[in-house]
Amino acid sequence: MSGPADAQAGCDYCRDPGNLLYGHVPQIATSDEEAHGLLLRCPRCGTLYEDPANGQYPYPITPEEASQFFPDWSRSTQGNDAPQG
Ligand SMILES: [Zn+2]
Repeated sequence: MSGPADAQAGCDYCRDPGNLLYGHVPQIATSDEEAHGLLLRCPRCGTLYEDPANGQYPYPITPEEASQFFPDWSRSTQGNDAPQG
């Protein structure tokens, strides 16, 4: 499999808890399921983070995971990437 290294995803900006935890990384979607909480996207590097509602630290997820967990976000991105239409 090829893709970004999951262990070291993100950039200096979004790896800084002061940015990630205090609203400087925009929230772009919410999940109906409490376990999935919020979807955040770094304004600098575009890394997606899932911010669970259970108090765990946000962690990076892939666009594929985001589209599964956050159907609102998936719909809003169609038209740019989806070839069918
Ligand atoms: Zn970043």
